[in-house]
Amino acid sequence: MSMIIFTDIDATLIGHDDYRYEEIRPLMRRLIEHRIPVVLVSSKTFAETVPLHRELGLTEPFIVENGGGIAIPEGHPMAAESDGREQNGFLLEPLGVPYATIRRFVVSRRMKGKITGFGDLTVSEVARLTGLSEGAAAAAKERLFSEPFLLKDRDDLEFVIGQASEAGLAVTTGGRFHHLIGAGIDKGSAMGTMLERYHRYGVGAGPVIALGDGPNDLPMLARADIAVLIPRPGMAHEPFEHPRLMRAEHPAPRGWRESVEILMDN
Ligand SMILES: [Mg+2]
Repeated sequence: MSMIIFTDIDATLIGHDDYRYEEIRPLMRRLIEHRIPVVLVSSKTFAETVPLHRELGLTEPFIVENGGGIAIPEGHPMAAESDGREQNGFLLEPLGVPYATIRRFVVSRRMKGKITGFGDLTVSEVARLTGLSEGAAAAAKERLFSEPFLLKDRDDLEFVIGQASEAGLAVTTGGRFHHLIGAGIDKGSAMGTMLERYHRYGVGAGPVIALGDGPNDLPMLARADIAVLIPRPGMAHEPFEHPRLMRAEHPAPRGWRESVEILMDN
């Protein structure tokens, strides 16, 4: 089956608690052999995503920081028309607002005592909050387009959303954190940008598949022809309606493998 796959990473492709993904390797090789593009779409940073992209043997562009930017491998046909900044073998293109603009909002007087961003935390604190190693936490702190944050008081969410909107920013919610990002930017808008480019190269004529587990994945799932929801361990699927919705039976990585196998074999 000809198709194009857009997939979230944490708790969709790799385990929510143990970050494991051994189980999907053979299937990923099969997808690459069949020239089915697999586009990673994550709240992760560029620095965090590059090692996983390499380990999985992927050669397609990927979307970072909840749609805040895209990374195109040098040598990919799409690189020819990109004006992205060269970094580590990729061209890095912003789709949202720069990190410095977001940080100015986080440290502004109106946000004082309301939120704690990654930029306010040490590497060790990020490691403790996420369960990541210190090295991985350092990569998670290399923000370019968005800022994960925790609320000091859960009831302040509406206030923060309102203030962010006045500052030209939006709030999206992931598995562990809320994220501040440019207004109008989400995983769905970035997926739309990527799809336009794929279509210009004659790729992606088949159905568009999107897989995710959290609220920040829903804009991406909404734009897909077939949406796949992965449950988190011990939890129900995220509430969501879609004309062609698959609810995976198991959490990541098993739920991802089983769903994609069904789609490939149909
Ligand atoms: Mg996720």
